[in-house]
Amino acid sequence: MKSFTFDASPGRVMFGAGAINHLPREVEQLGASRALVLSTPQQAELASDLSTQLGERSVGIYPHAVMHVPTEVARKAIEEAARLGADCIVAAGGGSTIGLAKAIALQSALPFLAVPTTYAGSEMTPIYGLTEEGLKRTGRDPRVLPKIVIYDPCLTLDLPLKMSIASGFNAIAHAAEALYADNANPISQLMAEEGIRALVHGLPGLKEDLRDLNSRSDCLYGAWLCGAVLGMSNMALHHKVCHVLGGRWNLPHAETHTVILPHVLAYNAAAVPSAMGRIERAMSTPNAVSAIVALMQRLGAPMSLEKLGMKRTDLVRAALLVMELPYHNPRPVTYEAVLALLEDAFTGRVNCS
Ligand code: NAD
Repeated sequence: MKSFTFDASPGRVMFGAGAINHLPREVEQLGASRALVLSTPQQAELASDLSTQLGERSVGIYPHAVMHVPTEVARKAIEEAARLGADCIVAAGGGSTIGLAKAIALQSALPFLAVPTTYAGSEMTPIYGLTEEGLKRTGRDPRVLPKIVIYDPCLTLDLPLKMSIASGFNAIAHAAEALYADNANPISQLMAEEGIRALVHGLPGLKEDLRDLNSRSDCLYGAWLCGAVLGMSNMALHHKVCHVLGGRWNLPHAETHTVILPHVLAYNAAAVPSAMGRIERAMSTPNAVSAIVALMQRLGAPMSLEKLGMKRTDLVRAALLVMELPYHNPRPVTYEAVLALLEDAFTGRVNCS
């Protein structure tokens, strides 16, 4: 076995149906008594319920999180937290709400507790993003990690099917890249494989019954592991392509990751046989790429950039942007290869050979 370094994320994780009932105790565990509960406007009711559950330990809700964390929204949230005398943040929602809590933690040093309700996995990473005048800048800082995470699958029962499926493949994409990251290690690979296994086991159940608690549990457990490996691994071509498409053309986050996943897997497959072997073991299949494509088709996942609103005429520009400051990738990346990959992703045709 080669030598390696493993950085475990600090923090405490509570997992399970009903885990949210421990919220007041966990806020106390933070040494806090005046929580401000964040959400998007769409999840204001959840924020309100958690605030009620916290009783005297809540100073109110801030249901104004939006995608990509505009600096203005973060500034207003920090002002509101100061005005109310909040001593901790509870972030209930997906990557957008958790992103807002990260921005607050970075700038105010308030501790936060995350209650994730999608499979994006942001709560497990020290990566933050802030958007100013249309430009998103990202960074890494351990201060943006939550002190406590409560994963309660009951809170994910209402995540619509389309979002659940795309969010699940978004998580699988984190794990796939972690498997062949240049800083991959035996522990991160173990977690990535198990994360993929849990998601490919859980996602089909959602298509049958969106509110099936066992399937929801599998997916959320998988999302935790996939988010954790995202946080500890250097990302490669897949994430570079998605950052370009999301940042420059504002394509939807989880759906873009879903569409790109099989194309980058197919591109890298021959260069990373042991990573492919782990995905194949997780999916009980002899071919990772065709199994991912088949699962996407079976679950009605988005398959083409065109359907996400990308224009064919922008593909050349996108390929050029991917080639600027390229990330490490196990197979060398050329402009021609990226353009061909984007053209395939545009139509949804995957080369599974
Ligand atoms: P999101 O947080 O934007 O949520 C999408 C919508 O779904 C929102 O309206 C939200 O309120 C709603 N929603 C969430 N959970 C729900 C539930 N259980 N039931 C009903 N509605 C629900 O989407 P996302 O995909 O979770 O996050 C995307 C954002 O997260 C992007 O900005 C992305 O860049 C960021 N992200 C960051 C990291 C990181 O490590 N920093 C990792 C992954 C994603």
